[in-house]
Amino acid sequence: MAKSSVLGYPRIGKRRELKRAVEAYWAGTLGAAELAAAGRDIRRANWETQRAAGIDLIPCNDFSYYDQVLDTVCLTGLVPARFGQPGDVVDLPTYFAMARGATDTPALELTKWFDTNYHYLVPEFDAGPPRLASTKPFDELAEATAVLGRAAKPVLIGPVSFLLLGKHHTRSLADHLRDLLPVYAEVLARLAAGGAEWVQIDEPTLVQDRTPEELALYREAYTYLGNLPDRPRLMLQTYFEALDGNWDTVVGLPVEGIGLDFVREVRPPTNLDLVNRHGFPADKVLGAGVVNGRNIWRTNLVSAFSTLEQLAQRVDPDRIWVQPSCSLLHLPYDVDLETALAPEIKQLLAFAEQRLEELVVLTRGLNEGRSAIQDALEADAALFQAALDSDRIHHAPTRQRVAALTERDFQRSAPFAERITAQQEHLRLPRYPTTTIGSFPQTPEVRATRAKWRKGHLSDAEYQAFIRTQIAEVIRRQEAIGLDVLVHGEFERTDMVEYFAAQLAGFAVTEHGWVQSYGSRAVRPPIIYGNVYRPAPMTVEIIRYAQSLTDKPVKGMLTGPVTILNWSFPREDLPRREIAFQIALALRDEVQDLEAAGIRVIQIDEPALREGLPLRREDWQEYLDWAVRAFRLASSGVADRTQIHSHMCYSEFNDIIDAIEALDADVISIENSRSNAELLQAFTDHRYSRHIGPGVYDVHSARVPSTAEIVALLERASQVLDPSQIWVNPDCGLKTRGNAEVWPSLEHMVEAARAMRARMA
Ligand code: GLN
Ligand code: ZN
Repeated sequence: MAKSSVLGYPRIGKRRELKRAVEAYWAGTLGAAELAAAGRDIRRANWETQRAAGIDLIPCNDFSYYDQVLDTVCLTGLVPARFGQPGDVVDLPTYFAMARGATDTPALELTKWFDTNYHYLVPEFDAGPPRLASTKPFDELAEATAVLGRAAKPVLIGPVSFLLLGKHHTRSLADHLRDLLPVYAEVLARLAAGGAEWVQIDEPTLVQDRTPEELALYREAYTYLGNLPDRPRLMLQTYFEALDGNWDTVVGLPVEGIGLDFVREVRPPTNLDLVNRHGFPADKVLGAGVVNGRNIWRTNLVSAFSTLEQLAQRVDPDRIWVQPSCSLLHLPYDVDLETALAPEIKQLLAFAEQRLEELVVLTRGLNEGRSAIQDALEADAALFQAALDSDRIHHAPTRQRVAALTERDFQRSAPFAERITAQQEHLRLPRYPTTTIGSFPQTPEVRATRAKWRKGHLSDAEYQAFIRTQIAEVIRRQEAIGLDVLVHGEFERTDMVEYFAAQLAGFAVTEHGWVQSYGSRAVRPPIIYGNVYRPAPMTVEIIRYAQSLTDKPVKGMLTGPVTILNWSFPREDLPRREIAFQIALALRDEVQDLEAAGIRVIQIDEPALREGLPLRREDWQEYLDWAVRAFRLASSGVADRTQIHSHMCYSEFNDIIDAIEALDADVISIENSRSNAELLQAFTDHRYSRHIGPGVYDVHSARVPSTAEIVALLERASQVLDPSQIWVNPDCGLKTRGNAEVWPSLEHMVEAARAMRARMA
């Protein structure tokens, strides 16, 4: 019999119960026992939902209080020394200290999980040696067995991916691996003793480019684990792309199952091509990921079933597990929680809970034949046809506008060297001009007032008036401390993507569509279901108001097309490039309206530009080409004297610096204060000609930097950049900080800029 299997389930709780519990625990208002109970409730609900849906292989150990890579750090005892000497088992305070840092003890680094918007904590391999230091997988297996009345399928991060995702390796990767493997052996033996028949071991790094030396690591690891006497069967799980050149290595490993992603097709050969070309080992189970774990559209059952039928010609159907393409962690819980979505859109959506039904139907089809699920297939085909006919999705003028674009639409009318002269005359800024990235602290008062308005306890007019008082106050204070280019503070925005999505046609926003981003933070990505256009100006009125309060330039503040796309769930019937251009055109109109309203500086943020990079390097250029063009399309419709800024919050852009330059933004601000060395390297290797504000103050910390520190950063930047190019600004927006630390920090920043100017005079 073919089986249905899930690789991982969302774990934040249907109503974000985990967020509330974890944050209350941090605040000291919830005890460890209550936190544990909250976790147990979520796990139980997840298991029961999956059992009720009829899933055969239900995962356990896919839960996490914060992050599954951090859980693996605990499992292997790799707690860096700065967190003190952990006991036999890593305790909860140490766990959260590694996640969030403690006084004078920086947290583990947080970074993107492949090309998703999930972030994991980076293991540090100079801690150690590894040892078994957590009982989490065993405890959760026992708990699942008690709830389900049968064993669940424990999920582990594989040793090689764990190693490759880490940093601070002190010896060869092979040496580190040899230390890790006995810990994994112990874990597998204990899971077998706990009744696990199968263990899913995730090695997503197998879908990336790997050197021969790295491929040897997988061979060593799985030869060792495969030959252990007491172990459960192993499902080696890959996801996010095809195995491509790593295929031969993977099919040769002594494991009982291999899980592949049959949804994501970046470029040939897809995993289906590979199975068709090479067949599949007869002694292994194929985990067939045919429903999408990363996007929210209902599976086209007809085409997913046809993939399964093709696979069943190569693989004994009894050895097929019908799976999502990856963990369902990247999806919201349940479409049925949405009450405000238009029915035509809602019927096309599948969140995690709806994916379960799809898996069960497809599995039944495989076991009982196509005719057994004929009704479902037909209903599905009709649904997709109706959707394609819907007016909601089609807005012909948008398609026509994109089709009619010419090279001139991507270009400003003069080169930077000429524009900057016109801008300097228009803006009359001093050297080392000071500014901020856009948002100011969203105080409890701002949040409470918004909540009141949402609940209808405050009228629109009252809310608007409140936002205006906030803007007036922040303009006044920025003027008072002597900043040069001001911002309106973004008090009206909760999220830099959702704010625009809610105003653009072609987007739907959800009420409960939360997806974990990191730790207790979840985001609600908007859904792009149709052609995107701008029914009305979005920010003009509020920016015009802010500008009316001061003679200094106030920045128009927009989120860029690439970031809006990358942080949304996109439609799949159009290339991403074309969706990006549609968004860019809507923003272009907004940019031109801002300019016409007298706004002299317009910032278009692209913090998600880099994370959109494909997993394999050979695909980078194609992405960067259209991403850069989308930004240029949004930004290039203004006069020379209008200054375009962009902001990106990362500093590792050595490898994409040509693309950054190609954006042709007049000024970029970037994160820097925590990684000054990398920045200096980038600009030593590559002469950057436009203006740039390397962040001089770390907004992720509550610390107030001294004037001297900021001067030192500016001095170092002045060694690789010309002083006339340098702007002075924080690393990122100030939204999550408090006013108590923000204002003194900004005062020091302004003083530092003045000191630099005085030196030049
Ligand atoms: N303008 C945004 C802000 O200041 C930028 C946020 C970001 O880079 N993520 O909040
Ligand atoms: Zn930022």
